[in-house]
Amino acid sequence: MPDAMTACNTVDQCLRAGEARLTAVSETPRLDAEVLLAHALNWPRSRLYAYPEHTLAPDQRRQWQQRLNKRLAGIPVAYLCEHAEFWSLPLRVTPATLIPRPETEGLVEWALALGPSGAERRVADLGTGSGAIALALAKERSDWQFTAVDISTEALNVARHNAVQLGLSSHIHFIQGHWCQPLVGQAWDLIVSNPPYVADADPHLAALHHEPATALCAGPDGLRCIRSIVADAFHCLTANGWLLLEHGWDQGPAVRKLLSSAGYVDVETRRDLAGHERTSAGRRPET
Ligand code: GLN
Repeated sequence: MPDAMTACNTVDQCLRAGEARLTAVSETPRLDAEVLLAHALNWPRSRLYAYPEHTLAPDQRRQWQQRLNKRLAGIPVAYLCEHAEFWSLPLRVTPATLIPRPETEGLVEWALALGPSGAERRVADLGTGSGAIALALAKERSDWQFTAVDISTEALNVARHNAVQLGLSSHIHFIQGHWCQPLVGQAWDLIVSNPPYVADADPHLAALHHEPATALCAGPDGLRCIRSIVADAFHCLTANGWLLLEHGWDQGPAVRKLLSSAGYVDVETRRDLAGHERTSAGRRPET
């Protein structure tokens, strides 16, 4: 039996064969095949359409096959290409960081709506990972000062790299630490976080096993990190300062309750584009 790759000499043949095989593991088999082939060839994706008859050199074929096999083993495209887009920003992502999700852009929009340009603000992003949230905010608000915190040195290295690549490193300070611990002793206008919030036994984790468990899992109910942030951030915020947290689709009621019990006011939850409760916020009152 010839293997499925034998017929794969040209760009067009690789894309067809790749798409067919990727259907088993991906909801976007054609897109995955295009992104992986473009990466293997070091081409922009659009070039695949201009040169469908291009015959792959042996080395290009090898590169493509390696990537295809890894994708077939379930590794996300973002890790294979070390690339993801968030807020239209190109970001490096590695297995040390979560792959940024489009629903987190809702948190960015909300944070921006809380503070117009022209006002200096001190902002912290807890568990920054690839730096996605801090970088998106920094891109939009050059007069804000950012501190991006993560427990993982590897993740901070990725976030720092992204900040440099995007020319945003001058107003983001990166610190290693545990949630609010590096913030203590200063007053913050805004604290944002997309913390781990998946319950340890959630069956949905099986589909995420290539991403770092430390960025996903948060105890039996998935609220361990959120509880810690809600409690400690209150004491780090200025009067009228806001805490914004992403959380699981079914955690809205629990997170609102945690916020209200801790003394936050104007507690509110917003939904993501799929209609799920996704981000909750509260304000530290004046007195
Ligand atoms: N949004 C991710 C998921 O459930 C989880 C991210 C997180 O825990 N912060 O797919």
